Amino acid sequence: MRTAVEMEVERVTIEVANTKTLRLRWPEGYDPEFRTGQFITMYWADAPDYKRAYSLSSCALDRGHFEITVKRDGKMGTRLVDWIKAGDRLMVLPPAGRFLPVFEPGRELICMAGGSGVTPFRGFAREATRRGLNTPIAVLYSVRTPDEVIFHDEFQALASENRHFKFEVTCTRVEPEAPWTGRRGRLTLEWLAEHLRDPAHTVFYACGSNAFVHTAENLVLNHLHLPKEQLRAEKWG
Ligand SMILES: Cc1cc2nc3c(=O)[nH]c(=O)nc-3n(C[C@H](O)[C@H](O)[C@H](O)COP(=O)(O)OP(=O)(O)OC[C@H]3O[C@@H](n4cnc5c(N)ncnc54)[C@H](O)[C@@H]3O)c2cc1C
Repeated sequence: MRTAVEMEVERVTIEVANTKTLRLRWPEGYDPEFRTGQFITMYWADAPDYKRAYSLSSCALDRGHFEITVKRDGKMGTRLVDWIKAGDRLMVLPPAGRFLPVFEPGRELICMAGGSGVTPFRGFAREATRRGLNTPIAVLYSVRTPDEVIFHDEFQALASENRHFKFEVTCTRVEPEAPWTGRRGRLTLEWLAEHLRDPAHTVFYACGSNAFVHTAENLVLNHLHLPKEQLRAEKWG
């Protein structure tokens, strides 16, 4: 059985309204093997039966701590965002999951994110950039309004540093007269096609609410007619 480890919250960062990043310090002697894109499962010591999964927003090259980025939503999401503070302690089960970036020669990655579902893709982009990989990665990120974009500055910095990394946002609920000059509307086939150079060697990732992931799956499987082996999905509910 996997054992939980108690970790101290080292830092809490407000990313956007209702979304915070928690940095969890590894205890002395803890040095796990894990992969970028995995999630940890956490609980509060006073409620050991209520466990929830959170994708790592840091990458496997970040040692000494985990970072997760949590939206204020539901019981656990609300408790974390409203109440967590530096110095608090959380119980953490080891990283797990198969939502892993395929950094193989000749592969291209298209990552479709809905709302807070962008969190694992920061890890993907960080690792590829730090390792100097030439794997093309496009993050296509759907939010309701421009002020909901998480990690905007870091994604922009990674895109400047890494010419193989592209970061684009679409806003689904921006007012017609709002000063947003970027893309509007939902994830579309046309948008995917703009980034699709070699369909047979592209790996697609979709992360976010069930509804968002379902839309993404439908585009890849039923409109691009690609096999499900080329698609990895992480549904958050
Ligand atoms: C692999 C994985 C990775 C994840 N990674 C992240 C992450 O990186 N960041 C993140 O923020 N979340 C992530 N999640 C989601 C996270 O695990 C929690 O589910 C989330 O924080 C909500 O907390 P909860 O499950 O306690 O919510 P619950 O209280 O169980 O509620 C679940 C959902 O139902 C809704 N709901 C609850 N009660 C009602 C009601 N009466 N009427 C209508 N709707 C209601 C809530 O708004 C919420 O959307 C991940 C989930 C999985 C499976």
